[in-house]
Amino acid sequence: MPKETDVEISRRAFLKTAGTSLAAVALAAETARQVSAITPPAAPETKPIPLPPTSAATERTHDPAPTPLAPSKRLGVAVVGLGNLALAQVIPAFGETKYCKLTALVSGTPDKAREVAAQHGIPARSIYSYETYDTIKNNPNVDIIYIILPNSMHAEYTIRGAQAGKHILCEKPMATSSAECQQMIDACRKANRKLMIAYRIQYEPNNRYMRQLVQSQQYGPVKVIEAVNGQNQGDPDQWRQKKALAGGGSLPDVGLYCLNTTRFLTGEEPTEVIATTYSTPGDPRFTQVEETVLWQMRFPSGIQSNNTTSYGFHEDRRYRVHAATGWFGLDPAFSYHGLQPELSYATGKIEHRERPTLGDKNQFALEIDHMALCVLQNQTPYTPGEEGLQDQRIMEAIYQSAKTGKPVKLPAITTRDTFRGTPPVEES
Ligand code: NAD
Repeated sequence: MPKETDVEISRRAFLKTAGTSLAAVALAAETARQVSAITPPAAPETKPIPLPPTSAATERTHDPAPTPLAPSKRLGVAVVGLGNLALAQVIPAFGETKYCKLTALVSGTPDKAREVAAQHGIPARSIYSYETYDTIKNNPNVDIIYIILPNSMHAEYTIRGAQAGKHILCEKPMATSSAECQQMIDACRKANRKLMIAYRIQYEPNNRYMRQLVQSQQYGPVKVIEAVNGQNQGDPDQWRQKKALAGGGSLPDVGLYCLNTTRFLTGEEPTEVIATTYSTPGDPRFTQVEETVLWQMRFPSGIQSNNTTSYGFHEDRRYRVHAATGWFGLDPAFSYHGLQPELSYATGKIEHRERPTLGDKNQFALEIDHMALCVLQNQTPYTPGEEGLQDQRIMEAIYQSAKTGKPVKLPAITTRDTFRGTPPVEES
């Protein structure tokens, strides 16, 4: 693995030559806005094989049998970076994808790559190092590249991947600065390739149900959203604790879920943020990046949000939406499994408390399949690069507010879902 300083130097040199065009970014945002009005595409081969019901009509319905494309028709995906997320979540999720399959690996550790390739039937010719990555352009079995590297490497590997003629699915946070995000959008646009940021929550049914409650005003207008995402971080030497590799601390890693999900639930963009940061003095984990960030956001409709993220407390990942005639939320909200809706409202003398069950879906399979469908049907992904850039801009405003101790205003955006593309197919 290259030393951190080497990575940073090569990344800077690379990005310097990649160039940025603000006009292209604005055009891409406009395209994303236009397609957001388009009806979701029909999934190919959508007819599930009919099965006789086994329960009474009053029982909860279950998903129909899945409708996968034949393996020969599925798009090929290369995974770049074989760390925790790739090996424990993303690669296993290909067992549940319907429109794509794992066809190549990119890793700096040849032994590990060979072992993973053997587990998944990937031929040796489809294993790449970071040095040979660009030759992936000659591999016709790779349509999409999924980047799962430390945050500061996302921009370089996105740009090189697009230049190799592949569509890009990139992990969150999109990059470590809004300038890098713009370069990534530009590069994909120039190469006429799609760019999606892996915001799995926006494809997940429990969170989509919460968005429906917000948008339909089922419990009246929303007033306040409270969101928390934090965890107690370990090894001080890991890349997440290094500013050059992570870009920041708890905010871009886990606090981003509070930010992105609040924007997703409301469909609105904040016009103002106010924030504070705190790191326990002497804690070796927080010499370069922050431990805790508390911030508030104001939205054009009058909704306000209160957000907490930390690397210093026991895992907690939840939100609650306070509306005029009820509250609702998820606890947990941002975990991979076991998301639990909660809601409360009153009828006459009765105060209702409900914990409805929607059940689990593989969030990574949903997200990767959305990307594959967008490529197959030439649609803009629901969470394109513009969505990641907007989060990055807001995070920069949050840090600025914490630094100056003053609220930071953001450009007023009054349209809804301004940065989102084609909505995902709603599955029963
Ligand atoms: P990880 O540390 O487990 O894996 C990172 C991989 O990058 C490793 O295989 C490592 O060898 C490789 N790497 C290459 N160059 C490196 C360098 N210079 N320093 C350190 N590692 C280097 O991290 P992870 O948890 O898999 O996270 C990877 C990305 O995925 C991050 O951007 C993270 O934010 C994102 N992520 C997203 C989710 C989600 O739910 N969507 C969850 C976890 C992580």
